[in-house]
Amino acid sequence: MPGCRLNSIMTRRLLHFPGQGCRYYVHGRCLLEERRNPGLELAWRCRVLQSWGDAYDRFLDQVEAFSLSDETAMRIWKRRMQHLGHPRQWCDEFVPAFDADNAPELPSGVAADEVASVGCLHILEDLCLKELPACAGVCAYFEPRREHAAAEDGHRHE
Ligand code: SF4
Repeated sequence: MPGCRLNSIMTRRLLHFPGQGCRYYVHGRCLLEERRNPGLELAWRCRVLQSWGDAYDRFLDQVEAFSLSDETAMRIWKRRMQHLGHPRQWCDEFVPAFDADNAPELPSGVAADEVASVGCLHILEDLCLKELPACAGVCAYFEPRREHAAAEDGHRHE
């Protein structure tokens, strides 16, 4: 039937609108599941922060085992931090966000202080943008960003 054929051609050609206007969209990635279940998906965490966090946990175990005072513990930890190594040692995909001469632009929606600790272009809070699921386009869960919603409200009241 011609109607069915037309339908199937249209379905095949149907393109989703990019999700840029959605509050869960960050640099081509989708934050919806992370916002619903914060911290649940370990694979989305920055590997460098995870490794540093693991090292700190091991250190706390030692502090407890040897009953170290806070002062001694702090002194030892400061020394250990200097030997944690460059983030590149922990992650092959590290890209410096603050390369003095040639700093790449931060992805939209990512604030400079969010990359400060690891200094990687791909970090967002403790998440790695490269690991988050890709946004496939506007979906049933689309929610406009606040600034878009506010602008729309403004137009409605004009
Ligand atoms: S690419 Fe960057 S944000 Fe991602 S795991 Fe590596 S250091 Fe962390």
